[in-house]
Amino acid sequence: MEQLLFPDIDKTPADYEAMYPPRNLGEGAKVTRFAPSPTGFLHFGSLFAAFIAAQTAGKDGVFYLRIEDTDKKREVENAVEGIVNGLKDFGIIPSEGAISDNAETGAYAPYTQSRRTPIYQAYVKDLVSKGLAYPCFMTEEEIAEIRKAQEAEKALPGIYGKYAKYRGITAEEAKKRIDAGEEYVVRLKSPGKPDGRIKFKDEIKGKIEIQENILDIVLLKKDGTPTYHFAHAIDDHLMRTTHVTRGDEWLSSVPIHLQLFYVLGFKAPKYAHIAPIMKEDEETHGKRKLSKRKDPEAAVSFYAEAGYPAGAVNEYLMTIANSNYEDWKRANKTETIEKFPFALNKMSKAGALFDLVKLHDISKTYISTLDTETVYNAVLAWSNVYDEELYRLITDAPDYARRIFSIERGNKKPRKDIGKWSEVKDYIAYFYDDLFDGEYESIPNVTSEDARAILERYLEIYDPDGAAEDWFPQVQALAEELGFARSPKDYKAEPDRYKGHAGDVSSVIRVAVTGRRNTPDLYSIMQTMGGSKVRERITAAKDALK
Ligand code: GLU
Repeated sequence: MEQLLFPDIDKTPADYEAMYPPRNLGEGAKVTRFAPSPTGFLHFGSLFAAFIAAQTAGKDGVFYLRIEDTDKKREVENAVEGIVNGLKDFGIIPSEGAISDNAETGAYAPYTQSRRTPIYQAYVKDLVSKGLAYPCFMTEEEIAEIRKAQEAEKALPGIYGKYAKYRGITAEEAKKRIDAGEEYVVRLKSPGKPDGRIKFKDEIKGKIEIQENILDIVLLKKDGTPTYHFAHAIDDHLMRTTHVTRGDEWLSSVPIHLQLFYVLGFKAPKYAHIAPIMKEDEETHGKRKLSKRKDPEAAVSFYAEAGYPAGAVNEYLMTIANSNYEDWKRANKTETIEKFPFALNKMSKAGALFDLVKLHDISKTYISTLDTETVYNAVLAWSNVYDEELYRLITDAPDYARRIFSIERGNKKPRKDIGKWSEVKDYIAYFYDDLFDGEYESIPNVTSEDARAILERYLEIYDPDGAAEDWFPQVQALAEELGFARSPKDYKAEPDRYKGHAGDVSSVIRVAVTGRRNTPDLYSIMQTMGGSKVRERITAAKDALK
């Protein structure tokens, strides 16, 4: 029978075993994979799954990318490049597998299922020869009728037992039907028993016991390509995967998979089923899955466009992955996530809640620890793709941009002003005449008359070469001269005596120079801008107050 079904297949499982031998890795090294379908959309949940697989493999193991393109209907052009680049944006770089739509790297190739058809067929041929699989000629109509009957009887749906009409088909009958042009699939002759139970330990969900598989599932479809289930067993075996990390929508398929590994004579991998990332629904306040349709942040491209640095997104992914990461980070502030002892069994069984505000906070802290050059280069790379004007500004005067980024950076308590690169333009806008809008925030407690007086007087005493330590004392002297207290404390003690305090005076200067009340250290800003621009700004603000 096997020769009838697969006349052109001449390789045997033994040939493939020899071609793809067990990997030569150190004791305990893990082999993991990310196995997306090339649908053209990389979901944040997929990025998370890839991250988990990469973390599980760690430095000693192997993490590879396999393309599961057996469903041609869902396929999109250049999708592999999209996946590879989507992962790369976050520093997730598989050590083997697909690298573009047409190229792959690694000794266990091909890593694209559509290029592996002869391999699948060789294994099915072997199963058929052993009587463990058979051709099934049932038509769609027959199957639909069976489904209807099963519904009426409240029986388990699928092809098994009395419904498995072709289980005992002879080679002669198969030949007759094939010669008559009938189409067929190849089904597993499931060894499962209706009362059989299987037990296994999921690395995330823990001990699981479920009904074993009794369905004669399809191994090869009518066109000779494999089903997901069969391809998974063959690929993860031949690519020597030790840990299958994947979404928990596959948990209920584990009985099928373990049975396939058993029938094929393969050692089963360990499974780790990842709960989906949840989101609080704004309308119902209940929890739901992060949705491609409803949530822009479900698309991985969202993070690159917004300009969240890879390191920050990785840290955020780790907080979702292992909730003890945050405590660890608090205790190891200067360590990077590579040092964190990630563990599959510390992952949430039910699904962690997605929180954009938290990502933003993590990112602010992360960016605050980067050095000036790193920030400059990251903004350069981001703006090159997403913001031409910003790119031009920072490349026209690179040193000016570097000085801006260096303000209050590198000190003990760096400012956390920037959460993503798309915030940079607004953050630095007042340093550039092209972007400075000449709008001034109003300062409470200071009349326009007083503000004008402050600016007039400040123009007279402003010294572009003045030292940092002289700056505030000078403002205090000016405050005193114009009827303001030297400090908030003095002002509070005798509010009737003063118009305000030195802080209000410096606010007037700050708003004149930057347009804003809240900025980094004003002295550093003025030093960066230089004397003539500072004078211009103060003069313009003074005039605007008239
Ligand atoms: N291709 C499957 C998917 O898109 C992969 C599942 C797995 O990782 O085994 O979900």
